[in-house]
Order: sequence, then structure tokens, then C-alpha cells
Amino acid sequence: TTMLEKGNISIHTENIFPIIKKWLYSDHEIFLRELISNAVDAISKLNMVSRSSDFTGEVGEPEITIAIDKDAKTISISDNGIGMTADEVKKYINQVAFSSAEEFVTKYKDNADQNIIGHFGLGFYSSFMVSDRVDIDTLSYQDGATAIHWTCDGTTSFEISDSERTEQGTTITLHLMEEEAEYLETSRIQQLIKTYCDFMPVPIKLDGEVANKQNAPWKQSPSGLSDDEYLELYRYLYPFQEEPLLWVHLNTDYPFVVNGILYFPKLRPDVDVTKGQIKLFCNQVFVSDNCEEIIPQFLLPLRGVVDSTDIPLNVSRSFLQNDRTVRRIADYIAKKVGDRLKELYRSDKTKYIECWQDLGTFVKFGSLNNDKFKQQIADFVIFRTTAELASDQPKVEVQSGEDDAWQSADGENAAAVDAKGNAYTTLKEYLERNQDKHENRVFYATDEVSQATYIDLHKRQGLEVLYLDSFIDTHFVPFLEQEYSDVKFSRVDSDLDDTLIDESAGGDIVDPTTNKTKGERVKELFEQSLNKPKVTIRTDALKSDDAQGAPPAIVLL
Ligand code: ADP
Ligand code: MG
Repeated sequence: TTMLEKGNISIHTENIFPIIKKWLYSDHEIFLRELISNAVDAISKLNMVSRSSDFTGEVGEPEITIAIDKDAKTISISDNGIGMTADEVKKYINQVAFSSAEEFVTKYKDNADQNIIGHFGLGFYSSFMVSDRVDIDTLSYQDGATAIHWTCDGTTSFEISDSERTEQGTTITLHLMEEEAEYLETSRIQQLIKTYCDFMPVPIKLDGEVANKQNAPWKQSPSGLSDDEYLELYRYLYPFQEEPLLWVHLNTDYPFVVNGILYFPKLRPDVDVTKGQIKLFCNQVFVSDNCEEIIPQFLLPLRGVVDSTDIPLNVSRSFLQNDRTVRRIADYIAKKVGDRLKELYRSDKTKYIECWQDLGTFVKFGSLNNDKFKQQIADFVIFRTTAELASDQPKVEVQSGEDDAWQSADGENAAAVDAKGNAYTTLKEYLERNQDKHENRVFYATDEVSQATYIDLHKRQGLEVLYLDSFIDTHFVPFLEQEYSDVKFSRVDSDLDDTLIDESAGGDIVDPTTNKTKGERVKELFEQSLNKPKVTIRTDALKSDDAQGAPPAIVLL
């Protein structure tokens, strides 16, 4: 084939512009987030520039001001940042999808300890979602720069003229459309600042008052944060909720940037664990509330903040699920959560056990859902047991409430016994402890109350029973059976015949009329007893030594 022509695709701005305005963002309200982000960037840039040797200008206290003029139907966003020269306005504003961020960061990389939020060069145009007209008044920090006025009515033509502005920085003024009058309400703007800009590092003034919190603890180093500071953030993000059990501080720069703090809440029935409650940020700018695509499903009950510049934001959610970086971030988060549990198990077993009621559900769900997590956590899955485990240390006395119980510091060898005297064990410990009595055999109960008689029967036989009685255990037992394929798992109310009785007289037929073995008879009687609450069964005679050879002394009382 012969090449006939080679060329560049061109775009008709008149046609593409309405599409950008209308479809780029789903929510009109994010215009404020975008303009404030630009203002923060402008301030960060000035800061970086000011540290280069040839800088002769001035840097004031960083500040962003939002002013509403109800009569003129305008809202304006002002910053005292870097400003723009006429050339910069032409370059970065007049060209859609052209950002100065990369250029800037490359030029000032030696001073680049601050992050630039901008990236795509589209944010500014979100202002046309709510405005008939947008004005820019700006004065660059550069020597001899003159103030510039830019105006555009949402078509593809603009005007540039001189501006009366005298202070360095930029003011963006939006002439709001009739139907966007809600943004003339101070309370609405306040709410938007709280939602999107609360943790941005520059004070944002509205009506003379600072409307944002600024400090983003997750960006700090974990060693610099006290427990109180972690708890304070939790209470701030999730007011009127119970205190979290523990937290994990995410902090990595390589191979992707992720900062964040994840909290394990107490799982109360009113907590909807299917709806993600983790807040996703990008450079301290709030992005969204449910980040199911980034957080592995089993970690959705967690709360807190994930802040990453490496999560592509302006793309569809289904794309996110298939994005490699996003998947690696998800793995990273799961691993950090596993590490935290491991560390707690080793350093403070008492607290681990106290939290197990809630943690266990995460851990089991995670083991079922995520292979890597399963392997990582396998040795730290514990079960309440009927065994009376000796405690290496005096038992913790708890006067009131459970909360203080785990405050007492215990070491690695702390007893696996909680404040109520319940003992806990890992499966490995169970198997080791019982290998002489019943090798590769686990007895478990799924309901402490309705299976009480069976549990008791096992205990009297000197057999240790594990409780697998949380709602997730219905799925977890088959999982264990698969994982430990050489171990037999016997529920206390089944398999009675060959477990309890075998060693003594299990196989013998004890009832010539029905041809039933002793084991079958015991089982039958227990089953009958379950339907008659008043009936109890004396099983003392079943103990292997006196049951030897003798007929079963089971008495219905
Ligand atoms: P991005 O922020 O992704 O770069 P925007 O469309 O939001 O894209 O902004 C385009 C460019 O306009 C920015 O890169 C910056 O150079 C310039 N700009 C926008 N707002 C300001 C401002 N308040 N002060 C200085 N420059 C600004
Ligand atoms: Mg921007």
C-alpha cells in the first residue's frame, strides 16, 4: 500500500467546549474544589520559587479568600500566590487541557518539597459549569509584570486587557448562572469547603473567618503523632461514633504514593459494612466517600483516609478496578492491615483478644476473599476454646466496662484469656496440645447455648472444643476444612459415635433390640433431649475409665 497522506487530528473548540463544560464532571459543585486547588497550587509555587537564589520579590502569609456578592451574583476566589503574566494566561488559560504543573515541577525540582495538585489542565474550565462569565485578575510575582484582566463568556472567544489589581496573586470571579444561585449562599459554600477543602494546607477565609481545618495528620510521620491525635481525627471524621479499636498509618512513596490512616471500628449491628466509609483524597483534596474500587472488599468496614496522587481520578470507576496501580495499592493496604494485626498479636495479645470479636470478622472475611491476606494472617486467627489455658501472668482485673482491659500492657507471652476468663487459641496450638488424644481432629461448636449439652459431654471426656459461632463461621468452617485437608473437623452434635465412644466401647452393639451401638444410642438420646428443655442427661458414667465394658449409664432425669 502507498501512503496517501499523513497529518494531525484537529479539534473544533466550538464543539468540544460544550462537551467539556457539560460532561467533564458529574457534579457542578466541584468547581469550587478545582478553583481552590489552583489557588493552593499558586501559593505552593510561589513558595518554591521564593527559595531560588534569584528571587527578589515578597511572600506574604499564604491565604485564600472567598467573597460572595449577592447583588452582583458573583463569587470570587482570591489567592496571594504566584500570579500569571499575560503570556502565562495565554499559555495556560487559553489552551484547554494544558497544565503548567509538569513544567513547573521540572524547573523547580530542587525546591519541590510541596505537591502540586494540578495535572490535567482542565480544572479551571469547570467554572463554566456554573457561570455565564468568568473573569481573571492576576499579577505575577515576576519583576516588572503588569496586572492582567481576562474575561470569557463561555464561548471560545476571550478578551485580555489591563487590570487595576495591585497585589500579587490571582482573583477568579464567577458570574453565576441564574439556576446556580445556591452558590451565593454562604452556608452552601461553607459546606463545600468543609467537604472538599477541609484538609488543604492553606487557610481559606469566608466572611472573614477561616473555614477549613488545614492540618492533615495522615501526611505527617507516624512517629510524630500521639494516640490522641489519631483519635481526634477519627472523632472529627466520624462524629458521635464509638472509638475505634486500633488504626494503621499508611505511608509510602514507592512504587506509588499512598498516605492515610485506617481505623478498625467496633462492628455494631447498625454499622453498614457493605458501604465503604473510607474517604479518598488526592493531595489533601477530598475526592470521594466510597472507594470500593481501591479498597479490597473485605476491608470496606474500615474507616479513615486514603490519600494518593497515583490514583487516576478523572476516569470511570470500572477503569479503576482494572488499573494495575490501583490493584497494587489495594494489595499494599491489605498487607499493611495484616502487618498491624500481626504486630498487635505479638505485642499485646490481651488487647488482640479483647478486639477479636470485631477483628475476627474482618480477618475471617479477608481470609476467605484474599489469598495473600489469608497466608499473611493464618497464624493469627484465634478461636475461643473450652480449654482452661494457664495464664503466664496474673489475670487482668476489670472493674467496669471492657475498655480498660486491654490497656494493661502485656508481652508476647501474655495469657490468651480475656477479661471474662474466656480462653483463646490458634488452630496450630490446639492441634499440638491435643495431638496425643486425637491427632488431626478438631471438635467445634457452632452454638454455645443449643449445643451446651454436647459441649459439656466433650468437656467431661477431656476433649477441647472450639467455638466457631460467629455468623461468618458458617463459611469459615468449610474454608478451614479445605485449608487443613488432613484435619477432620467434627461438630460437637454430630460424629458422636466414633469420637466419644470409640475409645471405650464405641463399636459394640449395646441394644440388641435395635442393633444400635453405644455411640448411636448416646447421639439419639442427646437429640431427643434437645427438644425437651427440662430433660438433662447425666453423662458422668461416660468417662472412658468407668465406661469400659459396662453398659452405658445414661439416665434421663
Ligand atoms: P491544572 O490545575 O490541572 O494545571 P487548570 O485548568 O486548573 O489545570 O489550570 C490551568 C493552569 O492555569 C494551571 O496549570 C496554572 O498554570 C494556571 N492557573 C490556574 N489558576 C491559577 C491561579 N489561581 N494562580 C496562578 N495560576 C493559575
Ligand atoms: Mg487545577
